[in-house]
Amino acid sequence: MAADQPVVLVVEDEDAQREVLSYNLEAEGFRVAKAINGDEALLVVDEEHPDIIVLDWMLPKTSGIEVCRQLKTRPETRNVPVIMLSARSEEVDRVRGLETGADDYVVKPYSVVELMARVRAQLRRTRPAAAGMRLEYEDIILDSETHRVTRDGASLKLGPTEFRLLSTFMEKPGRVWSREQLLDRVWGRDIYVDTRTVDVHIGRLRKALCQHGGGDPLRTVRGAGYALG
Ligand code: CA
Repeated sequence: MAADQPVVLVVEDEDAQREVLSYNLEAEGFRVAKAINGDEALLVVDEEHPDIIVLDWMLPKTSGIEVCRQLKTRPETRNVPVIMLSARSEEVDRVRGLETGADDYVVKPYSVVELMARVRAQLRRTRPAAAGMRLEYEDIILDSETHRVTRDGASLKLGPTEFRLLSTFMEKPGRVWSREQLLDRVWGRDIYVDTRTVDVHIGRLRKALCQHGGGDPLRTVRGAGYALG
Protein backbone atom coordinates (compact mmCIF):
# COMPACT_ATOMS: atom_id res chain seq x y z
CA MET A 1 0.00 0.00 0.00
CA ALA A 2 1.20 3.50 -0.72
CA ALA A 3 2.59 5.34 2.27
CA ASP A 4 0.51 8.38 1.46
CA GLN A 5 -2.81 6.55 1.66
CA PRO A 6 -5.21 8.48 3.89
CA VAL A 7 -5.51 7.38 7.50
CA VAL A 8 -9.01 7.11 8.93
CA LEU A 9 -9.45 6.91 12.69
CA VAL A 10 -12.55 4.94 13.71
CA VAL A 11 -13.70 5.63 17.26
CA GLU A 12 -16.41 3.17 18.22
CA ASP A 13 -16.86 1.14 21.40
CA GLU A 14 -19.06 -1.54 19.80
CA ASP A 15 -16.72 -4.21 18.44
CA ALA A 16 -18.94 -5.41 15.59
CA GLN A 17 -19.61 -1.91 14.28
CA ARG A 18 -15.97 -0.91 14.56
CA GLU A 19 -14.85 -3.99 12.64
CA VAL A 20 -17.45 -3.65 9.86
CA LEU A 21 -16.50 -0.03 9.41
CA SER A 22 -12.77 -0.76 9.43
CA TYR A 23 -13.20 -3.59 6.94
CA ASN A 24 -15.07 -1.35 4.52
CA LEU A 25 -12.65 1.53 4.89
CA GLU A 26 -9.69 -0.76 4.23
CA ALA A 27 -11.46 -2.13 1.17
CA GLU A 28 -11.70 1.48 -0.07
CA GLY A 29 -7.91 1.82 0.20
CA PHE A 30 -7.66 3.66 3.50
CA ARG A 31 -5.35 2.81 6.36
CA VAL A 32 -7.47 2.41 9.47
CA ALA A 33 -6.54 3.36 13.03
CA LYS A 34 -8.95 2.34 15.79
CA ALA A 35 -9.93 3.52 19.24
CA ILE A 36 -12.53 2.06 21.57
CA ASN A 37 -13.17 5.10 23.75
CA GLY A 38 -12.69 8.83 23.84
CA ASP A 39 -9.49 8.88 25.89
CA GLU A 40 -7.86 6.37 23.59
CA ALA A 41 -9.05 8.38 20.58
CA LEU A 42 -7.17 11.46 21.77
CA LEU A 43 -3.97 9.42 22.21
CA VAL A 44 -4.28 7.72 18.82
CA VAL A 45 -4.83 11.10 17.14
CA ASP A 46 -1.44 12.28 18.40
CA GLU A 47 0.25 9.06 17.31
CA GLU A 48 -1.33 8.43 13.93
CA HIS A 49 -2.17 11.94 12.67
CA PRO A 50 -5.36 10.74 10.94
CA ASP A 51 -6.66 12.54 7.85
CA ILE A 52 -10.25 12.03 8.96
CA ILE A 53 -12.03 10.79 12.09
CA VAL A 54 -15.27 8.81 12.25
CA LEU A 55 -16.44 9.37 15.79
CA ASP A 56 -19.27 7.68 17.65
CA TRP A 57 -21.20 9.99 19.93
CA MET A 58 -21.99 7.48 22.69
CA LEU A 59 -18.67 6.32 24.12
CA PRO A 60 -17.67 5.21 27.60
CA LYS A 61 -15.91 7.86 29.73
CA THR A 62 -15.14 10.83 27.48
CA SER A 63 -18.06 11.20 25.03
CA GLY A 64 -17.70 11.72 21.30
CA ILE A 65 -18.95 15.27 21.73
CA GLU A 66 -16.21 16.06 24.23
CA VAL A 67 -13.56 14.42 22.02
CA CYS A 68 -14.75 16.48 19.05
CA ARG A 69 -14.74 19.67 21.07
CA GLN A 70 -11.18 19.04 22.25
CA LEU A 71 -9.95 18.23 18.74
CA LYS A 72 -11.54 21.35 17.33
CA THR A 73 -9.92 23.62 19.90
CA ARG A 74 -6.38 22.34 19.28
CA PRO A 75 -4.61 24.10 16.39
CA GLU A 76 -2.87 20.90 15.23
CA THR A 77 -6.13 18.92 14.95
CA ARG A 78 -8.64 21.69 14.23
CA ASN A 79 -8.68 21.04 10.47
CA VAL A 80 -9.03 17.25 10.64
CA PRO A 81 -12.58 16.48 9.47
CA VAL A 82 -14.81 14.72 12.00
CA ILE A 83 -17.86 12.71 11.00
CA MET A 84 -20.06 12.09 14.07
CA LEU A 85 -22.13 8.92 14.34
CA SER A 86 -25.26 9.02 16.41
CA ALA A 87 -28.02 6.55 17.22
CA ARG A 88 -31.03 8.74 16.53
CA SER A 89 -31.81 11.77 14.41
CA GLU A 90 -32.93 13.70 17.50
CA GLU A 91 -29.45 13.14 18.89
CA VAL A 92 -27.94 14.53 15.71
CA ASP A 93 -30.05 17.65 16.17
CA ARG A 94 -28.78 17.93 19.73
CA VAL A 95 -25.18 17.41 18.69
CA ARG A 96 -25.60 20.10 16.04
CA GLY A 97 -27.05 22.38 18.67
CA LEU A 98 -24.03 21.81 20.91
CA GLU A 99 -21.73 23.31 18.32
CA THR A 100 -19.09 20.64 18.63
CA GLY A 101 -17.56 21.67 15.33
CA ALA A 102 -18.16 18.28 13.69
CA ASP A 103 -17.94 18.49 9.91
CA ASP A 104 -20.69 15.99 9.17
CA TYR A 105 -23.25 13.84 11.00
CA VAL A 106 -24.53 10.35 10.20
CA VAL A 107 -27.47 8.64 11.90
CA LYS A 108 -27.23 4.99 12.95
CA PRO A 109 -28.07 2.56 11.52
CA TYR A 110 -26.26 4.07 8.56
CA SER A 111 -25.69 2.71 5.09
CA VAL A 112 -22.01 1.86 4.71
CA VAL A 113 -22.11 3.08 1.10
CA GLU A 114 -23.39 6.47 2.21
CA LEU A 115 -20.83 6.75 5.00
CA MET A 116 -18.01 5.94 2.55
CA ALA A 117 -19.29 8.67 0.21
CA ARG A 118 -19.24 11.16 3.08
CA VAL A 119 -15.70 10.13 4.07
CA ARG A 120 -14.57 10.68 0.48
CA ALA A 121 -16.35 14.03 0.33
CA GLN A 122 -14.48 15.28 3.40
CA LEU A 123 -11.19 14.00 2.02
CA ARG A 124 -11.66 15.80 -1.29
CA ARG A 125 -11.47 18.95 0.76
CA THR A 126 -8.48 18.09 2.96
CA ARG A 127 -6.53 15.46 0.96
CA PRO A 128 -7.35 16.21 -2.69
CA ALA A 129 -4.37 14.30 -4.09
CA ALA A 130 -5.34 11.18 -2.16
CA ALA A 131 -8.93 11.52 -3.40
CA GLY A 132 -7.81 11.27 -7.05
CA MET A 133 -8.11 14.90 -8.01
CA ARG A 134 -6.24 17.31 -10.24
CA LEU A 135 -4.08 19.80 -8.40
CA GLU A 136 -2.66 22.99 -9.80
CA TYR A 137 0.09 25.26 -8.57
CA GLU A 138 1.13 28.05 -10.91
CA ASP A 139 2.20 26.27 -14.14
CA ILE A 140 2.39 22.81 -12.51
CA ILE A 141 -0.54 20.41 -12.89
CA LEU A 142 -0.65 17.08 -11.05
CA ASP A 143 -3.31 14.54 -11.89
CA SER A 144 -3.43 12.12 -8.98
CA GLU A 145 -5.63 9.67 -10.89
CA THR A 146 -3.41 9.21 -13.94
CA HIS A 147 -0.19 10.04 -11.99
CA ARG A 148 0.80 12.56 -14.66
CA VAL A 149 2.54 15.82 -13.95
CA THR A 150 3.00 18.66 -16.41
CA ARG A 151 4.72 21.99 -16.14
CA ASP A 152 3.80 24.73 -18.57
CA GLY A 153 2.14 22.00 -20.66
CA ALA A 154 5.24 19.77 -20.88
CA SER A 155 5.13 16.32 -19.32
CA LEU A 156 7.54 15.78 -16.39
CA LYS A 157 9.31 12.53 -15.57
CA LEU A 158 9.06 11.85 -11.82
CA GLY A 159 9.95 8.83 -9.73
CA PRO A 160 7.22 7.44 -7.41
CA THR A 161 8.75 9.03 -4.30
CA GLU A 162 9.11 12.40 -6.01
CA PHE A 163 5.49 12.12 -7.17
CA ARG A 164 4.28 11.54 -3.59
CA LEU A 165 6.44 14.40 -2.33
CA LEU A 166 5.01 16.74 -4.94
CA SER A 167 1.42 15.60 -4.16
CA THR A 168 2.03 16.40 -0.51
CA PHE A 169 3.36 19.87 -1.31
CA MET A 170 0.62 20.61 -3.82
CA GLU A 171 -2.13 19.76 -1.38
CA LYS A 172 -1.00 22.62 0.82
CA PRO A 173 1.04 25.23 -1.04
CA GLY A 174 2.92 27.50 1.33
CA ARG A 175 2.88 25.04 4.21
CA VAL A 176 6.30 24.29 5.66
CA TRP A 177 6.87 20.54 6.12
CA SER A 178 9.58 19.30 8.44
CA ARG A 179 11.68 16.36 7.27
CA GLU A 180 9.99 14.17 9.89
CA GLN A 181 6.53 15.13 8.65
CA LEU A 182 7.54 14.37 5.08
CA LEU A 183 8.99 11.01 6.13
CA ASP A 184 5.74 10.21 7.87
CA ARG A 185 3.55 11.19 4.93
CA VAL A 186 5.64 10.04 1.99
CA TRP A 187 7.57 7.03 3.29
CA GLY A 188 5.25 5.91 6.08
CA ARG A 189 5.98 5.61 9.74
CA ASP A 190 6.68 1.87 9.70
CA ILE A 191 9.80 2.15 7.58
CA TYR A 192 13.05 3.43 9.02
CA VAL A 193 14.47 6.05 6.70
CA ASP A 194 17.12 8.60 7.59
CA THR A 195 16.00 12.23 7.34
CA ARG A 196 18.86 12.86 4.91
CA THR A 197 16.97 10.65 2.45
CA VAL A 198 14.35 13.40 2.36
CA ASP A 199 16.98 15.89 1.22
CA VAL A 200 18.13 13.53 -1.53
CA HIS A 201 14.61 13.15 -2.92
CA ILE A 202 13.89 16.87 -2.58
CA GLY A 203 16.98 17.41 -4.74
CA ARG A 204 15.64 14.96 -7.33
CA LEU A 205 12.21 16.58 -7.25
CA ARG A 206 13.75 20.02 -7.80
CA LYS A 207 15.69 18.72 -10.79
CA ALA A 208 12.59 17.02 -12.20
CA LEU A 209 10.47 20.15 -11.82
CA CYS A 210 13.02 22.19 -13.76
CA GLN A 211 13.76 19.58 -16.45
CA HIS A 212 12.18 21.78 -19.15
CA GLY A 213 13.25 25.06 -17.58
CA GLY A 214 11.38 27.32 -15.18
CA GLY A 215 12.39 28.43 -11.71
CA ASP A 216 12.67 26.23 -8.62
CA PRO A 217 9.26 26.43 -6.91
CA LEU A 218 10.46 24.68 -3.74
CA ARG A 219 11.68 26.68 -0.82
CA THR A 220 14.15 25.49 1.81
CA VAL A 221 13.22 26.91 5.19
CA ARG A 222 16.32 26.94 7.36
CA GLY A 223 15.89 24.87 10.49
CA ALA A 224 12.31 23.99 9.57
CA GLY A 225 12.07 22.05 6.32
CA TYR A 226 10.59 22.59 2.88
CA ALA A 227 7.64 24.33 1.29
CA LEU A 228 6.13 24.80 -2.14
CA GLY A 229 5.93 28.51 -2.82
CA1 CA B 1 -21.25 3.61 21.09
